[in-house]
Amino acid sequence: MMIDSHSHTKFSHDGRENIDAMIGAAREKGLMYYAVTEHLDRDYKYCKKERFIRALNLKKYYKKVTELRESGFGDMYAAFGVEAGYSEKAAKWYEERLANYDFDVVINSIHTMHAQDAYFGKLFKNREKDDVYREYLDLLTESTAVKYDYDIIGHIGYITRYSGYPNYTLCEDRFADRIDALLKNIIALDKCVEINTHIRHPEMKYLPEKGILQRYFELGGRRVTFSSDAHRAEDICSNYFLAASVALEIGFTHWTVYKKHTPHDVEIKLN
Ligand SMILES: [Zn+2]
Ligand SMILES: [Zn+2]
Repeated sequence: MMIDSHSHTKFSHDGRENIDAMIGAAREKGLMYYAVTEHLDRDYKYCKKERFIRALNLKKYYKKVTELRESGFGDMYAAFGVEAGYSEKAAKWYEERLANYDFDVVINSIHTMHAQDAYFGKLFKNREKDDVYREYLDLLTESTAVKYDYDIIGHIGYITRYSGYPNYTLCEDRFADRIDALLKNIIALDKCVEINTHIRHPEMKYLPEKGILQRYFELGGRRVTFSSDAHRAEDICSNYFLAASVALEIGFTHWTVYKKHTPHDVEIKLN
């Protein structure tokens, strides 16, 4: 039975399909658990260019969620939540508001550094990998300490896919201490790491890199989930079996899925 903990619909600025169509597609694919996690990018408000990107209308989205929940979804559990883009200033805003919404799941992600989204690549101009990656790992660790209720750490390694560095990997000795610090924090806080397959990179098929997932397991981390991060119906559960085999190979036996912020274990199966 497949699960998917991360996706976007037209409520997000970059979603391609409406929420009803995405949920319909997930049911057709036979998922037992499917989460809509719209972009809540308050961090963009403090960026120069990104602040003009359409923000999520949280009230309107939540109204739709309430209506949808009443309608039921057959055998599938449809979860609703947001992907909250971390920055120090944005965290304060989330802290004041997120508790007002009865979401199932919140993903804590980092897209921006130095007030720009790594997606646009400018962040890496004239800067050494060493410097940027260390700063990114520190920021990730800082983000785990936010006070609002979140469940999943989004796509660890996000910036590496846009860095353009010939050797993009985070799995090097020089970053090991910082990676350990981050993973130990995640474990101590009982948060979940997602295996995100929405990667547009010639060599990377998922994030975090396998070495990081292995280290997380070694340190005692057991909460992992699958995230297609689909923005279109056809991408729901995309590369699910690849992620499931990687997880099983490392030793994970269950996915964690969240219903009203409560973790539930689902056995990872390849059929
Ligand atoms: Zn993201
Ligand atoms: Zn996403």
